[in-house]
Amino acid sequence: MKSKKGKIIGALCIFAIALAAFFIYFENTGEAAEFVPYAEFMAMAEGGQVTRVILNEAPVLRFYTQGSEAAYETSNPRNPTLKEKLLLMGIEVSEGANFSVGGVMSSVLPIVFFVVMFVFIIRMFGRASGKSAMSLNVTAADENAVNVGFCHVAGNDEAKESVQDVVDFIKNPEKYAKYGARMPRGIIFYGPPGTGKTLMAKAIAGEAGVPFFATSGSDFVQMYVGVGAGRVRELFKKARAAGRAVIFIDEIDAVGKTRTSGNTGGNDERDQTLNALLAEMSGFSSGEGIVVIAATNRLDTLDEALLRPGRFDRQIEIGLPDLMGRKNILNTHAMNKPIGRGVDMEELARQTVYFSGAMLENLLNEAAISAAKNGAGEIGQKDIDTAYYTIIAGSEKKDRSAIKDKERRITAYHEGGHALATKLLLPAHSVPKITIIPSTKGAAGFCVNLPPDKMYFTKQELESQAISLLAGRAAEEAVFGPENITTGASNDIQRVNHIIKDYVSKYGMSSTAGLAELSEDDKHKEYRLHINRLYDAALALVKKNFHTLENIASALLDKESLCERELDEIMMRAS
Ligand code: ADP
Ligand code: MG
Ligand code: ZN
Repeated sequence: MKSKKGKIIGALCIFAIALAAFFIYFENTGEAAEFVPYAEFMAMAEGGQVTRVILNEAPVLRFYTQGSEAAYETSNPRNPTLKEKLLLMGIEVSEGANFSVGGVMSSVLPIVFFVVMFVFIIRMFGRASGKSAMSLNVTAADENAVNVGFCHVAGNDEAKESVQDVVDFIKNPEKYAKYGARMPRGIIFYGPPGTGKTLMAKAIAGEAGVPFFATSGSDFVQMYVGVGAGRVRELFKKARAAGRAVIFIDEIDAVGKTRTSGNTGGNDERDQTLNALLAEMSGFSSGEGIVVIAATNRLDTLDEALLRPGRFDRQIEIGLPDLMGRKNILNTHAMNKPIGRGVDMEELARQTVYFSGAMLENLLNEAAISAAKNGAGEIGQKDIDTAYYTIIAGSEKKDRSAIKDKERRITAYHEGGHALATKLLLPAHSVPKITIIPSTKGAAGFCVNLPPDKMYFTKQELESQAISLLAGRAAEEAVFGPENITTGASNDIQRVNHIIKDYVSKYGMSSTAGLAELSEDDKHKEYRLHINRLYDAALALVKKNFHTLENIASALLDKESLCERELDEIMMRAS
């Protein structure tokens, strides 16, 4: 029990801390600045809106935007790679200049202050009250999210479809609990920046009509062991208090990166934070309508512990939009803008290959600014062009906007080869999607090929599968010549080798080798024999159906992606 005297001392301490915080805040910033959530700051930076960032060890960092004198602030993730990231985006970064004490002191003072404050509070109030120190900065529910719905997310149809049931689950958790259904507790959205991952998470909360608690993985990774874990617990407590909720954790990789050896310092903290997160997630009962959504640019860097069943077991890719997607996104953002009649949105969608949703939004915004400056009354083609070149100039270096036509052509023929062979040789397979928009996993394009669900595959089916894998490379050779084949087939080649190894050694399907076990030497001879034979078959098939291949490739170059129906139409035309 605390004495009265103790309480007074406590109150005095809080007062002193508040005073000190006030002092530090003004030392640090000089003048008040608008606070912007970190996720929004990154989106602005990626969109090329941020011109200058002042970086130091303070809890907030200050930045300036294009065409405005006003300063903004956002949480400082204190991420050592942030500076490089910003520099690569062409943003001016100055270090510690907004701290009046200057020099070395500028980075040391705040740290000293926070350590002292931290220790002090823990001492004064004991463990229980210590939590309040850890909860600094924990996000409150974002009120605006309730106004976002699926209608604000253009394109991304597959992703939207795969989260429909989640919305229903949040609304009626009892309904699912009654049937013993375990709904996903965690969903990961992965894909390039600016593709609408945050937007989609907000839309889920909006559609379900529940509060949206947003935070970033980098907010959890702090210098002091235990702070991140405390913040995680605090966040979940708030969400539980709200009853049903969507918790959004941006940049989950900051906490959930694969544990690498030899990386000391901060590792303990990250593990504790990660463990706290996993513990909280497995702590829900199925009757609770709480869903955790995390976002990352890359799935392959995440700790496997995060992806296990009962954790983030639903992973949904959110990729760059194709032509249709871009058209829809442009139309969505044009809705509240006076677009002139001379503007051809269809053409603009065509010119913006490899643009993300955020870049498209930014493009129209820049055009609107340009129109407002000129006072023309509406946004004209000229404003669009100006904005287009501003954005292209700023982004060329970091993304793939500049992929050459030649490469698009190669990709179109390569993927066309796969699709052609699959359609001709494997009629039972479905090809739901073929595209020349790069995937998150690094391929220049892809052709989805789903085998029918069955127990056995015949020898002929295995051979056909191998031929359709080889048809990508074969198409490259047939169209561009044997000297111009590319590295794009490496994954196909790997898969074909697997199939042929099994074909010979596991299934005994080789008519030349039979069923007997082979010596290593003979095995290799057999593999080579079959792969060469099947590659020749792929090449012959591509050459024989060259006209159809050209039709598929030119449709791909035109529309960027084709669905099964469109592909079937092209195949029908040929026969
Ligand atoms: P991410 O989280 O994937 O980096 P965001 O959700 O933060 O991307 O997207 C930033 C902004 O870009 C959104 O607020 C929205 O204005 C725009 N945007 C991105 N994708 C879409 C989309 N599919 N439809 C409409 N707007 C989009
Ligand atoms: Mg985001
Ligand atoms: Zn391929």
